[in-house]
Order: sequence, then C-alpha cells, then structure tokens
Amino acid sequence: MFGLIGHLTSLEHAQEVARDLGYPEYADQGLDFWCSAPPQIVDNIKVTSITGQIIEGRYVESCFLPEMLAYRRIKAAMRKILNAMAHAQKQGIKITALGGFSSIVFEEFNLHKHRQVRNIQLEFDRFTTGNTHTAYVICRQVELASAQLGIELSQATVAVCGATGDIGSAVCRWLNTKTDVASLLMIARNQERLQALQSDLGRGKIMGLEEALPQADIIVWVASMRKGMEIDPKQLKQPCLLIDGGYPKNMGTKISHPGVHVLKGGIVEHSLDIDWKIMNIVRMAVPGRQLFACFAESMLLEFEKLYTNFSWGRNQITVEKMEQIGKLSVKHGFKPLLVEEC
Ligand code: NDP
Repeated sequence: MFGLIGHLTSLEHAQEVARDLGYPEYADQGLDFWCSAPPQIVDNIKVTSITGQIIEGRYVESCFLPEMLAYRRIKAAMRKILNAMAHAQKQGIKITALGGFSSIVFEEFNLHKHRQVRNIQLEFDRFTTGNTHTAYVICRQVELASAQLGIELSQATVAVCGATGDIGSAVCRWLNTKTDVASLLMIARNQERLQALQSDLGRGKIMGLEEALPQADIIVWVASMRKGMEIDPKQLKQPCLLIDGGYPKNMGTKISHPGVHVLKGGIVEHSLDIDWKIMNIVRMAVPGRQLFACFAESMLLEFEKLYTNFSWGRNQITVEKMEQIGKLSVKHGFKPLLVEEC
C-alpha cells in the first residue's frame, strides 16, 4: 500500500473544496479552524501499471495551508505534517510521498528531530519527498517541449528560478551533464547557496529574476513561493517556454501571449485511468490520468516494492537516481505533460 500526503493551495481553495464536497459549515471557517483540523484519509486509490500490476493507496489530507507560514502559524504547520505522517504510518502504509510544501516544511523546520508523535515513532524510510521523480519529469519537459516549440537547447538560455532548492539544483545538475544547453541562469535569494551551486556545477550565471526573464528561452519555476507572482509577458522572448513546477503555482499571471507557452511542470499523465477522486479536488485538467510527479514516485516505489526513502534530505538528488526513477516511470506508463497545441 502506498500513501500520498497532500494539501490545498490556499485558505480560499480549502473553503471552496469544503463547499464542493458538501461541508458548508467548514466552508465558512477561517485559518484557525484549519490549524486545529486533524489529518484525514479522503481517498482510496487503485492504480494499474501498463505491465498489468495493480496497487492500492490512500490519500492523506494534512489540512496544512500555505497561509500558516505567512501568518506565523509555524507550530501548526509543523504539527500538520508530523500528524499526517504518523497517520499514514499508523495505517501500515509502506511508502508515502510528502507532496508540495510537506517536504519543504519538514526540511525547513528540522522535523527529523521530532520523531516521536504521541505513541508513534516515525520511521522515515517509509516516506519519500518524491522530488527525484519531479526533477526528472521537469528535465524531460525541458527537453521534449523545447523540441516541440523548435527551441534548440544548444542555442538556448535556460533560467531556473529556485535553482538552489532540492528540485531546482537537481534540474541544474541534469541540464549541466545530460544536455548541451548553451547558457544556464540561476535565480534564488540566498547568494551563498547560489555560489556553492555554481562552484559545484562549474558553470551557470547567478542573476536576479528581473534581469534573467528577458534573456531566457526557457524558464523553469521551482521556487517555494506561498503564492504566485505577477510577471509581464511582454518582457519575455518569443518563443519562450515557461515550465511552472511550483505548488502553489509560482506564476500568478494568466498568460495568453503569442509565442509564450506555459506548461504545468512536474506533472505526469498515466497511460491508464486511475481509480480515485482526489485530482478533481485539486482541479487537474484530466483528473483521471494526470497527477503530480512526486505522488507518482510513491506509486513507482510501491510497484517495485522499493520500500525506502528514495528521495530524502536536501540537495542529494543525483543524475543517476533521476535516470533510475525515470526508467521506472516509463516502465509503468507515466509520461511528462507536454505543450498541447503543438
Ligand atoms: P526547496 O525549499 O528545496 O527550494 C526552494 C527554492 O526556491 C530555493 O532555491 C529558494 O532559495 C527559492 N526561493 C524561495 N522563494 C523564492 C523567491 N521569492 N524568489 C526566488 N527564489 C525563491 O523546495 P523544493 O525544491 O522542494 O520545491 C520547489 C517547488 O516545487 C515548491 O513550490 C513545491 O511545492 C513544488 N513541488 C512540486 C512537486 C510536483 O510533483 N509537481 C513535488 C514537490 C514539490 P532562496 O530561499 O535562497 O530564495
């Protein structure tokens, strides 16, 4: 049995979902209510691989909301993630993905120091961040979608916003070793971490977002932003490929500008329908087949009976592990989402 720990993108989203699911009394509640709500298993899942193998899983809603970080409800945020992990472990789930901000909160607030959750001693090898598969999928999206749009990587400038993060640094490593991308621009706030990444890669230009955007043919957004930022599409190159891997999305602007192509980053489509309801709730375009790559990682580990924290810690993702999870992804029938209109 595999598990998925997820959360909604905002208080407003949580209120809408409560209303849609027929809980109007929850729909009127503010952040305090969500801070005290316990984790819930809200979906039972069945996934069939293209090999014919069938696995079952559970979706655990942690009730974490990104606003908890903005409004200094840090203790509540920590409790949400630890309680959701304990809840998954208590069900006997062997491998559970920490979706979206769950792993960010885990790392940021050193939750490995809080192993004891009431009567449960958390066994961290039952959990994976899912970031190796996410980084792999984003890299394949860069390679495949650029080809769809006629952008030659050997002549392209790729900007990675959130370059020093777990996913961002893995993407930079892959682009550096597996592609002939002409120029790599690295964006984040902490300069020391950027310099460390630059010396690790032996290349890459450290740049502010404002300066980088007009130069980039491809922009990979993998910054841990609590809400999307507005950008002016007129400043972008044409064609320009924007791959937004953030959850919540990094880009707050709805872009409909000729030559500017937005791709949902870190999303895969399964070759067969998945028996679940949860992707309707997070408003995935094709909810029966499309899902976050981090969730797919725990499915892949379950298919392979690889009960280990495949992705764990920060900035440990190697190109070899991305290739390994990538092979399993193809084997079981997952494909990176590509640009539709091509
Ligand atoms: P990390 O916390 O490891 O890294 C975040 C990166 O973003 C760091 O480089 C950080 O550097 C940078 N950053 C944060 N805020 C800003 C800002 N305002 N401007 C520029 N850079 C910024 O996060 P992850 O790599 O684990 O996750 C990244 C994103 O991917 C998140 O939105 C997450 O929810 C999403 N995600 C998507 C998945 C999927 O399946 N599609 C799976 C898992 C995660 P600094 O602090 O120095 O600025």
